[in-house]
Amino acid sequence: MSSYDVIVVGAGSVGVPIALALGEKGLKILVVDKNPSPGQGENKHGIGGIRATHSDSAKIITGLRSLEIFSTWEERFGDDIEWVKGGYTFPAYRAADEQLLKGMLPTQKKYGLNIDFVGPGEMQVIVPGINPEGLIGGTFSPDDGSASPLLAISAFYRRAVELGVEFRFKEEIRGLLVGNGNIQGVAAESGRYWAPVVVDAAGPYSKDLCRTVDVDMPVVPESHEAGITEPVQQFFTSMVVDMRPIPGSKNYYFYQNRHGQVIFCLTPEPPLRGTDKRETSVFLPQISTRMVTLMPRLRNLRVRRVWRGLYPMSPDGSPLVGWNREIQGLVHATGMCGQGFMLGPGLGEVIARMITHETNEEDKIILEALSPYRVFGAEEVLK
Ligand SMILES: Cc1cc2nc3c(=O)[nH]c(=O)nc-3n(C[C@H](O)[C@H](O)[C@H](O)COP(=O)(O)OP(=O)(O)OC[C@H]3O[C@@H](n4cnc5c(N)ncnc54)[C@H](O)[C@@H]3O)c2cc1C
Repeated sequence: MSSYDVIVVGAGSVGVPIALALGEKGLKILVVDKNPSPGQGENKHGIGGIRATHSDSAKIITGLRSLEIFSTWEERFGDDIEWVKGGYTFPAYRAADEQLLKGMLPTQKKYGLNIDFVGPGEMQVIVPGINPEGLIGGTFSPDDGSASPLLAISAFYRRAVELGVEFRFKEEIRGLLVGNGNIQGVAAESGRYWAPVVVDAAGPYSKDLCRTVDVDMPVVPESHEAGITEPVQQFFTSMVVDMRPIPGSKNYYFYQNRHGQVIFCLTPEPPLRGTDKRETSVFLPQISTRMVTLMPRLRNLRVRRVWRGLYPMSPDGSPLVGWNREIQGLVHATGMCGQGFMLGPGLGEVIARMITHETNEEDKIILEALSPYRVFGAEEVLK
């Protein structure tokens, strides 16, 4: 069967931008996905938050590049991906959170992030109706924002097709093909496809994919639920992240989209490992209580629907990106945790340059920090 310069397994948040960036370099690319169209894995479960507000240099640099791609997409290519520059807000009600947020500012500013710690008065202007009781202030990064994951990935996909990238849907990859320590291609249901470079962008299923060649990728799927309300008149634009853990959940986050709907998501504690995507009766009472306490005016909103998807979790909350050291030509682009949509476009370009041996100094910082072979230490603070 056909041979390619690069095969990407997974047409998701990361696989499509990688293919797009490689397509821009004129390479012959094949993307294979078991689903019927792009973004039908976890991409479509994301709520669309896009930020460069991270705690470490690699994700800040990547996030800034992603923001540039999302925010200029419509003017460059004409597709409306529902980009909104609403900013990200991390309110602080505890001295420990104030310290944590302020402690990250020097690193964030060093890499060019537009962010500041604002007092309680300004916080109440940015998030009208936020509970003022005990509010110390918080960070606001006005250049962060949101977009529709399905509109964005469809736009990236169409552009990749224009550049000659080939996509095969409804094709499950049964295994990677290796000979003499080199990747040779992939075994799909319908036959074999050949390439000297294969990218593992299989998200929550990376472990299964890599197991076929005895590579143990530490990616574990975790279930997360989200929901969306009916549309109402616009009354806030920023993504609000409440970092305070309470029994049953860690943080939760929400924003009002361009249609006036409030979209929300919560991090359960303890984590719900596995691939169960059935909605629960626990989530809505859990998150609505928290949201209404933080912002009482949300109490009259009616929820339209909830859904549940998977975070492809790495051991420390940061992606796993780089060449495999045992199998030449195998690239890992996985473990995106809760940030694959926002990191995808930036990482796509870095990975394309890695494959064509054109990395720059910033790429090296990113690839070193996200190496699958790093020593996994403490969890990334804003994961
Ligand atoms: C409720 C919720 C809210 C979220 N909110 C946000 C957010 O606001 N911002 C953000 O950045 N992220 C968010 N995320 C996280 C984001 O959705 C994921 O990090 C991201 O989609 C992962 O991208 P990926 O490309 O690794 O995986 P996916 O997008 O799932 O892509 C992997 C693809 O690989 C395919 N595949 C896997 N194995 C095979 C195989 N063997 N053969 C063929 N195809 C295969 C799958 O079908 C899939 O299409 C959220 C996630 C959830 C669940």
